[in-house]
Amino acid sequence: LVSREHHPARSVIRVGGVPIGPDTLTVIAGPCAVESPEQTLRAALMARSAGASMLRGGAFKPRTSPYSYQGLGEEGLRILADVRAETGLPVVTEVIDPGHVELVASYADMLQIGARNMQNFALLQAVGSAGVPVLLKRGFSATIEEWLSAAEYIAQRGNLDIVLCERGIRTFETATRNTLDISAVPVVQRLSHLPVIVDPSHSGGRRDLVLPLTRAAIAVGADGLLIDVHPQPKTALCDGDQALSESEIRHIADVIASMPPLM
Ligand code: PEP
Repeated sequence: LVSREHHPARSVIRVGGVPIGPDTLTVIAGPCAVESPEQTLRAALMARSAGASMLRGGAFKPRTSPYSYQGLGEEGLRILADVRAETGLPVVTEVIDPGHVELVASYADMLQIGARNMQNFALLQAVGSAGVPVLLKRGFSATIEEWLSAAEYIAQRGNLDIVLCERGIRTFETATRNTLDISAVPVVQRLSHLPVIVDPSHSGGRRDLVLPLTRAAIAVGADGLLIDVHPQPKTALCDGDQALSESEIRHIADVIASMPPLM
C-alpha cells in the first residue's frame, strides 16, 4: 500500500490544512516536551515567526531512563490544544501506548510514533484505525525495509495519511547521538509515495549540528523538517542540548529561505 508500485505519484498529506509532500518544505517546530502553558506558547510563537506551519511537542515522553522527565500527559495535550487555538498551528504529538490513541487523537491533528515504538505493532494498528494523520519516525536500528513495513501496518488499517521521518540511526560513531542517514531520503522517496521529512535535532542531538543537517536535508530533497525549539534551552526538561533559541531558529529560517529550490 505504501509502495510506488501501488501508487506511482508521490502523495501530499494534509494536516489541519497544511500540506506535506513534494514541492513544499513543511517546517514543524516546537519544544521537545510540553513543560507549561507559557513555555509551549512562547516556543510556538518562535516557531511560527520563523516560518513553521505546524507545532510539535511531547506530552507523553518515551524516555530512556525512568528517572527522566516523562511529560505532562493529558494536561500537556490540553496545553497543546490551547496553543493551537491561540496560534493557528496544527499540532503533532507522540502517542506511546495503544490505550491512549483515542485520547491523543481527540486533541492532536497528527499522531507521532517515535523511534522507540516503530515496531510496536499493536500501536501501529491502533493509529492506523484512528482516522488521524500519522508521523512515523524511523527506529534507530531499523532498516528502510523494516521502516516501510511499519508504515504498511498503519496503511493496512485504512490510514494512508502517513509521513515518514528520518531521525538518525545508531552506528559505531559516538560524536553524534545518532547518525543522520541522509541517503534514506531519496531512497525512500523512490520506493514509497509517502512524504519523507528529516529531524535534524534528534539525529545529531547537538544544537550546532541543526543548521548543517537542515541544509543537507533540503539539498537531498526532504519534504519537511522537524526541529526542536525552546524559549530557554538551558532550562529545558528534555533534550536541551539540541533545542534552538529564538535567534537560532530565525537564522535557520533565513538560511532555508536563501537556499535554491531543488532541480
Ligand atoms: C521526539 O521527537 O520527541 C522524539 C522522542 O524523537 P525520537 O522518537 O526520534 O527519539
